[in-house]
Amino acid sequence: MHSYDPQNIFARILRGEIPNKTVLETEHSLAFHDINPAAPVHVLVIPKGAYVTFDHFAAEASAEEIVDFHRTCAQVCQMTGVMPGKGYRAITNAAEHGMQEVPHYHLHILGGRPMGRLVDPA
Ligand code: AMP
Repeated sequence: MHSYDPQNIFARILRGEIPNKTVLETEHSLAFHDINPAAPVHVLVIPKGAYVTFDHFAAEASAEEIVDFHRTCAQVCQMTGVMPGKGYRAITNAAEHGMQEVPHYHLHILGGRPMGRLVDPA
């Protein structure tokens, strides 16, 4: 069901095949700046494991990976100044209706300006 493409761009970043602007790296997670930022703060947090979507990660990752991932997100919020501060939005897109572009689970942390409505009306 969750078939993972090892050639996706974030897998290549994790293998060191293409560069990234790292914010924080831990045993199980990597946080780096989005190449096409949609806000003054736009950081992507990814697990190092081969997970396609949020639900895949939530269902199959180990407790250690899940804790590491969320602690990394918390540290990124502090390091970028969005919290404590004026706040942020955390977004994850999944598959076709979620309009996911890169099929490796990632959380977008966006801030530095008011983020507008949650979603566009359909
Ligand atoms: P999504 O639509 O949720 O899959 O978002 C994928 C995100 O990855 C987009 O915001 C892209 O700008 C970002 N992205 C794509 N390639 C890279 C890259 N090489 N380094 C950093 N961010 C990237």
